[in-house]
Amino acid sequence: MRILMIAPPGAGKGTQGALIAAHFNIPHIATGELLRDHVARGTALGQAVRAYLDRGELVPDQIVLDMVREAVIAAKAAGGGYVLDGIPRNMAQARQLYEIGLELEMTADVALHLQADDAELTRRLLARAALEHRSDDTAEVIAQRLALYYTVTAPIIGWYRERGILVSVDAMRSAPEVGREILVALEAMRPFLERVRADERLPVDLTSLGEAFGATGSAADTAG
Ligand code: ADP
Repeated sequence: MRILMIAPPGAGKGTQGALIAAHFNIPHIATGELLRDHVARGTALGQAVRAYLDRGELVPDQIVLDMVREAVIAAKAAGGGYVLDGIPRNMAQARQLYEIGLELEMTADVALHLQADDAELTRRLLARAALEHRSDDTAEVIAQRLALYYTVTAPIIGWYRERGILVSVDAMRSAPEVGREILVALEAMRPFLERVRADERLPVDLTSLGEAFGATGSAADTAG
């Protein structure tokens, strides 16, 4: 199973990425985590990217793509699956990631899109700021990260829809509920992924599933 996640900050990429990785026993490649780790260790790369992270801006594409290429090579050696969290974040990254995937025979089977509204995302990120001390979880930088998501990241979603690998999930509910829905959707796709060629797939939209089952509102423990 090879999955990439597209979601605004606070939708739960980190939490759900870890759950998916544990469920399918595949590596969780989280670009934000990898970058923050470099900053914490004070590596040359960490020093080069720190200011971008603090301001909520995108790190230069090539830095992230080189880092991810290494991780995808390792994932291939480890069995061929992955869950990518944090990339692609713009169209250029989407295209280059696809090139890397083609070259390594590791293109994604599923683009998992988590949806939540701004008020909820901001609430979760501010709640997280009180617990962890991420330099980018301040009201001002959160607004900047959300704006960046809508202008440069969200437009990529249509591309995955056209490729027929998009799965959209309503991430407004609690982390366990969202997690359950994701795993059910991915498990249901497994036999299909084995049989249907990537370029012949149709998009799956589960965003109204929560409403259909009468789910409402959100829970507090879902930031990330
Ligand atoms: P969030 O989705 O909550 O913003 P992440 O941990 O995914 O959190 O990313 C944190 C920061 O790391 C981003 O604001 C950005 O500065 C940097 N970053 C992560 N992934 C990428 C990427 N693919 N391209 C450029 N910058 C990135």
